[in-house]
Amino acid sequence: MQGLIMDYPLTIQHLLERTHRLYGKKEIVSWLPNGFHRYTYADFYRRVQRLANVLQRLGVRKGDRVGTFAWNHYRHLELYFAITCTGAVLHTVNIRLFPEQIAYILNHAEDTVLFFDESLASILEGIQGELKTVQHFVAMGEGTTPPETSLRPVHSYEALLAEASPEYRWPRLDEYDAAGICYTSGTTGHPKGVVYSHRAIFLHSLALTGVDCIGVSERETIMPVVPMFHVNAWGLPFSAAMVGSKQVFPGPHMKPEELAYLIQNERVTLAAGVPTLWIGIQQVLEKGGYDVSSLHTILSGGSAVPRSLLETFERRWGIQIIHAWGMTEMTPVGTVSRLKSYMHTWTEEERFAVRAKQGFMVPGVELTAIDETGKEVPWDGKTPGELLVRGPWIARAYYKDPDSEEKFAGGWLHTGDVVTIDSEGYIQIVDRVKDLVKSGGEWISSVDLETAIMAHPKVLEAAVIAIPHPKWQERPLACVVPKPEYRGELSKEEILAFLQDKFARWWLPDDVVFIAEIPKTSVGKFDKKVLRQQFANYTLPGQEG
Ligand code: ADP
Repeated sequence: MQGLIMDYPLTIQHLLERTHRLYGKKEIVSWLPNGFHRYTYADFYRRVQRLANVLQRLGVRKGDRVGTFAWNHYRHLELYFAITCTGAVLHTVNIRLFPEQIAYILNHAEDTVLFFDESLASILEGIQGELKTVQHFVAMGEGTTPPETSLRPVHSYEALLAEASPEYRWPRLDEYDAAGICYTSGTTGHPKGVVYSHRAIFLHSLALTGVDCIGVSERETIMPVVPMFHVNAWGLPFSAAMVGSKQVFPGPHMKPEELAYLIQNERVTLAAGVPTLWIGIQQVLEKGGYDVSSLHTILSGGSAVPRSLLETFERRWGIQIIHAWGMTEMTPVGTVSRLKSYMHTWTEEERFAVRAKQGFMVPGVELTAIDETGKEVPWDGKTPGELLVRGPWIARAYYKDPDSEEKFAGGWLHTGDVVTIDSEGYIQIVDRVKDLVKSGGEWISSVDLETAIMAHPKVLEAAVIAIPHPKWQERPLACVVPKPEYRGELSKEEILAFLQDKFARWWLPDDVVFIAEIPKTSVGKFDKKVLRQQFANYTLPGQEG
C-alpha cells in the first residue's frame, strides 16, 4: 500500500510559481538610498527570470555558491529566488562582520559570483586581494553603468538584466538540493556554514503561515527588519512571497524613526526584528508623532524579549509582540510563544508570564532538554537542561567542518541553550551555557536578571556578565544603560532595591555599573564577549587589594 502518493519535490520553484500565478498584483516596496521603489510580484517574476539568465551567462552552474552582500530590498529578494530556483546556492553574507571574517566565509563557501549594494563596495574593495574564488562582482545600483570601484570584473545589475532574455525554464531540482548557505556569527572560532535545502526552506515557509506560528498570510503587510543576510530574514521573505503578502523592505534605513515612518506610510501589519530594535522604536513612539495603528503584531527573538517590552507595546499601542526562539542552524524558527485558547481566561499577569517565555515547538520541530548526565529533564518548568532539537529544517552538520560532530551527536542539534520546559510545553531560556553565572556551584541566569532590570522605568538596556570571584567562582555584574533623560540620575541602590523582592539574595548582582551603550553583535544582540573583555580586569566591591 505504500507509495501511492506522488513524489512531488518540495522546492522553492513551487513557492515562486505560486506567487506568479496568484499574486501578480500584490506590491513589494523598498526604501533605497535614492528613494522609494515599488513594483508588483508580476514585475518581480519577470525580473527573476531575466536574472536566471544572467546567472547562466556569468557561468553559474548547479550547486555553485552565489554571494549577496546587501541590505533588505527588492533586488535582494530577486536574488533569493533566481539563485535558488536555478539550482545554485544563495550565500547571504553578513555585511556587519569584520572584513577578515567576510573574506574567510567567501573563501570557505567558494562563491563564484558576488552581488553587492553599491553603498557597501568599499568593504569588499578592502578585502578583494584575499578573495580566491569570486570571478564576477555585480553592483546593485540604479544606473546601468557600474560605480567607480577597484573591484574587477564588475558589472551593473540593471545592465545585465536589461540585456538578458526574459524567458527561462526552471531546471528540475531535487528537494534535498542545497538552496542556501548562511554562516553563524561565530562568537567563538571561525563562523560555521549552515546549508539549507529546498525542502527545509519549503517546509519552514509553510510552517510560518500557521496561525499558531507566525501567521504569515496574504492579508498581512510584512516588514522584515531582521536582515536578509541573517538566516534569510528568519525565512519571512520566502514565506511571504509564497502567500502573496505585501512586503516592505527598509533598505539601509534602520533608524527607529525611519522604521516608524515606514510602518505608518506603508500600513505595515506584521514586522520582525530583534528586541533591541523595538527598544529603540519604543523610545520614538513614546515621543509621539507616528501613527502605527496598522501594526498588530511584532515577531521578536534572537535574544530574550524583556517582559516589560511585551507589556508596554500591548498596553500603550495595542501591538502584540510574539516571542520566538530559533537558531541559524534551524532555518531558523523553532518555538513561538502563543497562548493556548484556554489561557485567554487566565489573569493578565499569568498571560504575560507565558508570553514572555520562548514558546512551544512549531509543528515539524521536536525538542527535549537533558542534564549533564544526558538524562532528559522533567517538563516541570523548574529543572534546567540543555535544549536539544531535531526536525526537517534543522542542520545535521556544518559545511566542511568535521570537527563539530559533537554538536549534532545522537541525531539531535545540541543548542548550547539552557532551558526549562513547563508542563504546557513552553520553553524558557535560562541562559546560553557559556553566559550562565556559576556562583558557588549553583547557576544564576544572566537573562533573568537582565530582563528584570530592563523593566525598571529609568533603564534602557541592561546586560549581566560573570566576574571571576575567589570564593564563589563567579559573581554577577550588571551593566546598565539608563534612558537618556535619566543619565547620571540612576543609582546602584535603586537597581538593587528594584530586584530585591524578585530574586533570592545570592542572585543579586555584586555591583552595578552604568555605561553609555551595551556593545551589540552584527545582528543587534548584546555582545557579552565584548562586554566581558571590557570588564576583564574589573574588581567587585569587597575584593579590592
Ligand atoms: P538568531 O539570531 O536567528 O536567533 P543565531 O544563530 O544568531 O540565530 O543565534 C541563536 C541563539 O540566539 C540561540 O541559540 C539563543 O541562545 C539565542 N536566542 C534566539 N532567540 C532567542 C530568544 N527568543 N530568547 C533568548 N535567546 C534567544
